Amino acid sequence: PEQKAQVGEEDKTPKQLPKGVVLGPDGKPCRSCTSVSSWFAMAKQGTANPSKIATTTPPAQATASLDMPADCPPDVEQLGRSAWTLLHTMAASYPEKASPEQQRETTTFMQLFGKMYPCWVCADDFRAWMKDGNEPRVSSRQDFGQWMCEAHNAVNVKLGKKSFDCRKWEERWRTGWKD
Ligand code: FAD
Repeated sequence: PEQKAQVGEEDKTPKQLPKGVVLGPDGKPCRSCTSVSSWFAMAKQGTANPSKIATTTPPAQATASLDMPADCPPDVEQLGRSAWTLLHTMAASYPEKASPEQQRETTTFMQLFGKMYPCWVCADDFRAWMKDGNEPRVSSRQDFGQWMCEAHNAVNVKLGKKSFDCRKWEERWRTGWKD
């Protein structure tokens, strides 16, 4: 006879989840890999652990407009915007000419970042991109900022977004726009 799921047991079947919901390595929906709209669709459908959803579902008002309350765990987009802000700002404050030690540390940081980034599908692709002839260029601020811009553009292209003009990375992230 067919085994019935126990009460409280999670259904890990991906096909029952709304489009865009990404599972984590533990088989549970991965919040930082999933957009807020897919997450809310899942919450509405009740396709994941209801107790988890109950703690993360925003008030009805916020759900309607898909506005995420500021004190909720980040979705893939919010996490991405915050991460790029950190990364580009690191490039903006990087030395004009980096010492060998700074270069080593920065390369190590980017490699670890590619391992530890909480959206695991994003991290896998990012590591693959770095491995595919795009190792971090860290000799100077210009080099690092340009490389970061190219890294961000690789994700923009993957997501079907417009590429950013990398000649302007410094205006966007360091000096502010020229009048
Ligand atoms: P963002 O792309 O977050 O950009 C923020 C701001 O940066 C923009 O408003 C613009 O002013 C500026 N900007 C844009 N492009 C550049 C550039 N090339 N150089 C300098 N500045 C720029 N999301 C997914 O859904 N799938 C993924 O696989 C994925 N992979 C990611 C990998 C990494 C390493 C990171 C950090 C994020 C990833 N994301 C991924 C998140 C994604 O890149 C965006 O952050 C998210 O979709 C929100 O996009 P956004 O349009 O608000 O602006």
